[in-house]
Amino acid sequence: EAKKAGPHAYRFFEPRMNIALRHFVETRDALRLALERREFVLHYQPQFDLHDGRLIGVEALLRWQPAGEAHPRMPGVFIQVAEHSGLIVAIGRWVLREACRQAALWREAGWLDVSMAVNLSAVQFRQPGLEQDVIAALADSRLAPHHLELELTESILLQGIDSVLATVSRWKALGIRLSIDDFGTGYSSLAYLKRFKVDKLKIDRSFVSDIAHDEEDRAIVQAIIQMAHSLNLKTIAEGVESAAIEERLRTMGCEESQGYFYSRPLPAAELDALVAGAGSTSRVIELMP
Ligand code: C2E
Ligand code: MG
Ligand code: MG
Ligand code: MG
Repeated sequence: EAKKAGPHAYRFFEPRMNIALRHFVETRDALRLALERREFVLHYQPQFDLHDGRLIGVEALLRWQPAGEAHPRMPGVFIQVAEHSGLIVAIGRWVLREACRQAALWREAGWLDVSMAVNLSAVQFRQPGLEQDVIAALADSRLAPHHLELELTESILLQGIDSVLATVSRWKALGIRLSIDDFGTGYSSLAYLKRFKVDKLKIDRSFVSDIAHDEEDRAIVQAIIQMAHSLNLKTIAEGVESAAIEERLRTMGCEESQGYFYSRPLPAAELDALVAGAGSTSRVIELMP
């Protein structure tokens, strides 16, 4: 790592390496400033019950909005630097607090049984404070634990299994919901799913987006759903972009759905307005395209 090597190490790098390194250092420093300046915001993407169309959850998705820029920066351009620099720990702590705060507001507004899903990075699990951060975010917002859902990745379940297992088990005991994000892209084995006792599998977008046309993808999604059901897990499909995909998923027994077909991730106020317009969370979907 560059920091350990010190500034004199730079001149030993190839020119191209130098550019990559400079990009890393600049982005890291900008992210640090962004935290101080409170330039992060969360957008929320709604999740629906595939049978009755109820709004059942929202996923909090991180955005970086530097002052004076027209559009927020997406996680794809900064999350890796946040992870490799360790800044994801402080950023993730903010995400947890902000998402719980917003979820509690929506609860007060009468959104019944709408849960808040928060993404966790594997890097956050490598520092001991995470478990406490989650508990503090819940306590300070007074959000009930069963309204928080933590999205884990398969890579999290694979690292330092015993300590992760202990943390995840304590969260479960508190009533926090757990899902595995991007399911199918990593290395989860059936044995992991049995040990970690998560509640839900989020079927990765890469399998979902083509199920209306691609027979192989359809077979994969069907297999994931069947396996989930035999382990008493629910499934949610991500990246649902059309009515045809939605219909296939329903036929295959998938319970929940999320994607551009319903809505892009929205600022809290915009989702607020949508629900207010619908009159209740059970009718939101009727307002959507
Ligand atoms: P993810 O958790 O798998 O989130 C789903 C991503 O797919 C989001 O991208 C979302 O905007 C996008 N998406 C949703 N529906 C559709 C669709 O129908 N079609 C297509 N093409 N895309 C769709 P986003 O917001 O750019 O986030 C990308 C990734 O960044 C997330 O993937 C997650 O891994 C990471 N991320 C986002 N927020 C956080 C955060 O607060 N903490 C951490 N650790 N990671 C985050
Ligand atoms: Mg996610
Ligand atoms: Mg995902
Ligand atoms: Mg994904």
